Amino acid sequence: MTDLDLRELQGTEFPVPADLQGNVAITSLSKIYNWSRKNSVWPMLFGLACCAIEMIATAASRYDLSRFGMEVMRASPRQADLMIVSGTVTKKMVVPIVRLYNQMPEPKYVLAMGACASGGGPFKEGYNVVSGIDKYLPVDVYAPGCPPTPQALLFALIALHRKIDGQSLANMDDVPWYGVGPSDPTPIPILGPDIIDPRQMDIIRRQAELAAAGLPYGKREVPDLVLTAGAASTSAPRTAAEKAADKVASAPAAAAADDPEKAARLAKREAALARKRARQQQQSE
Ligand code: SF4
Repeated sequence: MTDLDLRELQGTEFPVPADLQGNVAITSLSKIYNWSRKNSVWPMLFGLACCAIEMIATAASRYDLSRFGMEVMRASPRQADLMIVSGTVTKKMVVPIVRLYNQMPEPKYVLAMGACASGGGPFKEGYNVVSGIDKYLPVDVYAPGCPPTPQALLFALIALHRKIDGQSLANMDDVPWYGVGPSDPTPIPILGPDIIDPRQMDIIRRQAELAAAGLPYGKREVPDLVLTAGAASTSAPRTAAEKAADKVASAPAAAAADDPEKAARLAKREAALARKRARQQQQSE
């Protein structure tokens, strides 16, 4: 451990004579507060995938996190102020991750370690992976790489130190947690309505409309061709539920009639769906 160097605390606004610099420090409250905070960041003890191995290596003797006062990885979110999201964030895990984040006391920081945590990584747009933890939590620092090396993680931690150092107690916008009580908890995502595959938006929207009308909505997708063929081949009168379903299906088209931009968007989407159906039909033949 190095000796305390008072020069780290000194600002330029009140210069200290050179011969006193090792013994006297004139500084601001923010500076000394941040200096103590940044040198005692306690990360939470958890890992999600391969990146966690690099995080563990960073904490071990070769790279030695204790140089930064960070050797105590806490097994409880209530004692941690840094969440290192190290690994692939699945749709199932993002729920407990946000819950754990909410349980951490303020001030708290999030470090997205690796390509997966930063944006989905090699699994981006996979059916079970979220495209980055920053869609759910406020990320302070990103460490790129797959995986980032321990050196890269150390660099990200130093970047976090710089960020903490730059925060001012005098500016409430800068440190919303200081003096104004705890901030609102981050909403915990729900698998389904919040965590979805954006490529399925059309289907989800249609199903939501059906559900709002009290109709069965479990069908993934019913090609128009099948519906038309079914209607042509039967002369039976349509049921009330079928008529209501037609009404729901035609509602967006009616709304789009007065909005040419929306109509163009809908037409484009219909064309894409038609191409998809044709492709699926070709594959099944
Ligand atoms: S970024 Fe690469 S190393 Fe890290 S969790 Fe994802 S796949 Fe694994």
